[in-house]
Amino acid sequence: MPIPRRYTTEAIVLSRFDFGEADRILTLITPGSGKLKAIAKGIRRPTSRLGGSLEPFAELQVALARGRTFEVVTQVSVGHAWLNLRDSLESAATAWYLAELADRSLEERHAAEPIYILLRHAYGLLDAGMAPGRVARWYEMHLADELGMRPEVDRCAECDRMLDAEGRFRWVPQLGGVLCDRCPGPGHDRAGLSLDGLKLLKAYQRLDIEAIAALRLPDAAEREVETAMREFIRHALEREARSLAFLDEIRSPDGRPGSTTVPPPSDEAPIGGRA
Ligand SMILES: [Zn+2]
Repeated sequence: MPIPRRYTTEAIVLSRFDFGEADRILTLITPGSGKLKAIAKGIRRPTSRLGGSLEPFAELQVALARGRTFEVVTQVSVGHAWLNLRDSLESAATAWYLAELADRSLEERHAAEPIYILLRHAYGLLDAGMAPGRVARWYEMHLADELGMRPEVDRCAECDRMLDAEGRFRWVPQLGGVLCDRCPGPGHDRAGLSLDGLKLLKAYQRLDIEAIAALRLPDAAEREVETAMREFIRHALEREARSLAFLDEIRSPDGRPGSTTVPPPSDEAPIGGRA
């Protein structure tokens, strides 16, 4: 069935940049049409009816008209805004990072309902005050799952042997997960993964989010799993997320203090304007 020329959909803004004198181009994720680019004409004029509603960190209802290059936004209203998420710079920077991963994972105009739901859920968790690092790891793990790249954390990715607690492990994203110590493989020179790290990776895969929120963990295991999952995602998406540089800068204890406003990401410059 052909898609009608005008339609209304739920959408979340993944990124945006200003275009021309008063327009803005947005990358949206929608449940039914996946990722799409839309132009909001005249939105930067004070008189624009689209005005302040077409913002990130909210689930929107947008009316779109199909265009040759971009959809054209004709109307927008806010369905649900995650307002608390914006109060913490780390939560907001994490939200941009999650949006960037969704953006990079999707092709335009391919249905993406599971990833839409995942992003919406993650924004709800950030909004509710869950530790941003936990939300990010949970999201990365489930995103990999949705992309058909579920990390192997139960069996050796090379020889298929069940990993046992007495063994030693290595994390090799190129092979899809954990290697046992009997397999030389291309990861023989890699640093080991601790048993705590392995357990935490399993927890992100198996536990529901409430149980993950309640976990008490050594910092070292959290850091190890952060490194492991970032590397896994970088390998899966074939590049580093630009928004990580900003996220890491605001978290760095010896970095410059972050500003209290989150710079909007754009397709032209990385967040914070840094290369
Ligand atoms: Zn093995």
